[in-house]
Amino acid sequence: MRVFFIGFGQAGGKIVDMFIEQDKKLGANSFRGIAVNTARTDLMGLKNIELRDRILIGQTMVKGHGVGTDNVTGARVTADEIDSIISAIDSRGTHDVDAFVIVAGLGGGTGSGGSPVLARHLKRIYREPVYALGIIPAPEEGRLYSYNAARSLTTLVNEADNTFIFDNSAWKNEGESVKTAFQRLNNEVVRRFGVLFRAGEVGRMGVGEMVVDSSEIINTLRGGGITSVGYAISEVQSKTTKERKGFLGGLKDKFGAKREANEEVLLGEDRSAKIVALVRRAMLGRLTLPCDYSTAERALVLLAGPPDEMDRKGVEKAKSWVEENIAGVEVRGGDYPVNSEYVAAVVMLATVGNAPRIKELLDIAKETKEDVIKSKEKKTSMFEEGIDPLFE
Ligand code: GDP
Repeated sequence: MRVFFIGFGQAGGKIVDMFIEQDKKLGANSFRGIAVNTARTDLMGLKNIELRDRILIGQTMVKGHGVGTDNVTGARVTADEIDSIISAIDSRGTHDVDAFVIVAGLGGGTGSGGSPVLARHLKRIYREPVYALGIIPAPEEGRLYSYNAARSLTTLVNEADNTFIFDNSAWKNEGESVKTAFQRLNNEVVRRFGVLFRAGEVGRMGVGEMVVDSSEIINTLRGGGITSVGYAISEVQSKTTKERKGFLGGLKDKFGAKREANEEVLLGEDRSAKIVALVRRAMLGRLTLPCDYSTAERALVLLAGPPDEMDRKGVEKAKSWVEENIAGVEVRGGDYPVNSEYVAAVVMLATVGNAPRIKELLDIAKETKEDVIKSKEKKTSMFEEGIDPLFE
């Protein structure tokens, strides 16, 4: 799938920068990306998005200093300068793009407010689907962040064709602060969505046995709403793949795992059982948004790995297993070969009906709104009565 990423705000910009980095490392040329922000320093901190593709908006209003956590201003500035954002997107070329993906932290100001505005305009102008990848804040970041995220998401689900969610609180470790976790979390985002969005692209290793093309991803997402993604990897054991490296893993060095080459060639049955087990792990393990997978309307199962590890029967069985476990009956799937020491499984659970974290976020937002109204009513001032000011 050829994706045009728009990183909106600080988190969005950083993550798109990493998608572009991954694309460059793989020599893949599947991703294009720009960053939009009201804060000049955030744009300057990016490394892989070209300078001309870093768009500073709101200069007259906030003078390059950002909008703070004011997403209403974020939305206003974006609406005011939508023409320059669209023309920047156009000038990068959109004729061969399969989808747009707007990436943003929904708890802040610029990305939170700007993403729904941009989604609306992109949808009006282009025929290709417009997706969002929204990062939701951990409750400990404070009620304002949850309030912003709830408002942004409520708007976004009506503007974007589908919204992928990554929940910061589900991914940070016990005791770890959200800030120090960001780099690690961003790696997780890019690894998962990198495998997903790359489906259907013909790489150096050729095409898969059961090709998933971009229309299958698009059809899986057509119900709208929110979508969660599961992911699991397993190390390849055959000797021929010993030297392989690639974008699926990256965990090996961290865990210092040393593998002995195993000359045994996996038999068909074994291979297909391995694939089913991997897909189960992907769906039952930690999802980008923890949710009740049995409420998903559609799903897509994707396997990526060395060609000799792929197995049509395994993919079919894994699809049937997913189908038994979700609400709907539409499960698509396939594989694509990559040069890697790992086999990766991605399960995209589309249009999820029940996610406790989203309910919690919306509840916090409702309470916050009520508290703000109450505190406004209660507000008293020492200077309200008695003495007339010099002028009104
Ligand atoms: P903006 O620049 O005004 O759009 O605001 P930010 O992008 O800083 O968004 C704030 C929200 O995004 C916060 O609620 C954080 O939870 C989250 N956030 C900020 N930076 C990162 C990051 O690098 N990774 C992740 N996963 N979340 C981030």
